[in-house]
Amino acid sequence: MTDKNQKHKTAMEKQKAKVDARIAQASDERGVAVLLTGNGKGKSSSAFGMVLRALGYGQKVGVVQFIKGQQLSGEEIFIRDHLPQVAFYQMGTGFTWDTQDRTADIAAAEKTWAYAEYLLRDPSFNLVVLDELTYMLAYEYLDEARVIRAITQRPYEQSVVVTGRGGGAALRDIMDTVSEVKDIKHAFNSGIKARKGVDY
Ligand code: ATP
Ligand code: MG
Repeated sequence: MTDKNQKHKTAMEKQKAKVDARIAQASDERGVAVLLTGNGKGKSSSAFGMVLRALGYGQKVGVVQFIKGQQLSGEEIFIRDHLPQVAFYQMGTGFTWDTQDRTADIAAAEKTWAYAEYLLRDPSFNLVVLDELTYMLAYEYLDEARVIRAITQRPYEQSVVVTGRGGGAALRDIMDTVSEVKDIKHAFNSGIKARKGVDY
């Protein structure tokens, strides 16, 4: 074996021992709360990746979208047309800078949150996605304490994924996994139009 290959083998053996030890240490078997935040692209699409994973195991999934763009999205179309088993609820209003009506936005947010709470109370749901929920907290459309209570008191085996920029320290604190997607660059800023199948 060449020197380089031998070095690689030794390093990999060490790495494997480390990973195996950590796997053996993880003993908690329960649902996880994941927050996907940051300014870069990839938060919602990652959440829908987990929806696909869960469905692969025949798990029960609920998806709530707190902001509806004017543009339909592929995931929305696919769930509506091909995944009737997914519980899907979308807040009926557009972006808040489109509607410019705070009272109507709050009413819509509360109605949408009521559905989210129903999912977060039902132990038969394995995975609940709360897409763009953070904005409801940032605009103070929803009561933060109420949101945090529902997430922390959800069924033991249920996982929840929250997406959206920001979200605040209190939300971050109660989540098990927090990932920040960093914006290095985005095609939109070079004048490339949002792309079907990639951006929506
Ligand atoms: P995606 O749904 O593609 O995973 P996201 O959920 O991380 O994106 P959002 O803020 O919810 O990001 O925005 C959704 C839309 O905005 C997508 O079309 C996405 O490509 C676009 N977008 C996301 N981040 C940026 C950015 N930094 N600059 C410009 N456009 C962005
Ligand atoms: Mg998103």
